[in-house]
Amino acid sequence: MTENYQHRARKRFGQNFLHDAGVIHRILRGIHARPGERLLEIGPGQGALTEGLLNSGAQLDVIELDHDLVPILRAKFGSNPAFNLHQGDALKFDFNSLNPEPRSLRVVGNLPYNISTPLIFHLLANAGVIRDMHFMLQKEVVERLAATPGGGDWGRLSIMVQYHCRVEHLFNVGPGAFNPAPKVDSAIVRLVPHDVLPFPAKDHRLLERVVREAFNQRRKTLRNTLKGLLNSAEIEAAGVDGGLRPEQLDLAAFVRLADQLAAQPKVESQG
Ligand code: SAM
Repeated sequence: MTENYQHRARKRFGQNFLHDAGVIHRILRGIHARPGERLLEIGPGQGALTEGLLNSGAQLDVIELDHDLVPILRAKFGSNPAFNLHQGDALKFDFNSLNPEPRSLRVVGNLPYNISTPLIFHLLANAGVIRDMHFMLQKEVVERLAATPGGGDWGRLSIMVQYHCRVEHLFNVGPGAFNPAPKVDSAIVRLVPHDVLPFPAKDHRLLERVVREAFNQRRKTLRNTLKGLLNSAEIEAAGVDGGLRPEQLDLAAFVRLADQLAAQPKVESQG
């Protein structure tokens, strides 16, 4: 590989470049891209994953924020007709501009840690065009994504992502796989949007609101934290014990609370 490009990793762009060939190979195996598929890589950096993704024969769009990486990426991959580079912010990118077929886009990224949560929410807003997502994230974030009710990791992120997706924690990656090495452990997660939502809410914005309120003070009982939205009788009517704490409730119970809220007169779903 020709690695004589001089690019100094920038902290503000969350640049920790993968250099461990074994880890790169394992990620590519997990993704298992096939010829003709539509892939979208977020933050290709210097192309550690890009090369293997292109070798699969898939069609690859990449979005990179750092201008200085553009010539490097063009030099490496620009002659490949399957490669299409977008310079810009993935948080503002309109995924529909790629004209994907429904449930076709396979999204991949070793994500900058500072944008990982907003980016996942931005992608979920376009879940209809996405087939699956494979991300390298902070290990602690992957544990929250894949959490089950009852523990400290179960919260707003777990619930809102599991509303839309099946979540699989694939494997962990230590700091030594990156240059520069981050201070935290990382992990690979696979998110697969559900074909049919297992627990559809009448209004998912109300679900977001109930979950946000509930976890604002996670040590308090639901009766307390949801006071501004639902009274004790309404919580009971949703089949939920108001004496429980939010982390004890599963997704289905939160959806019942949101639907109870939707049934109230005068409820605004915004805010
Ligand atoms: N994929 C490369 C790798 O594995 O070596 C780079 C990973 S590095 C952790 C994250 C990459 O995302 C960097 O190249 C960074 O410039 C880019 N990036 C940061 N913020 C971004 C944003 N908002 N939109 C698109 N790319 C971004």
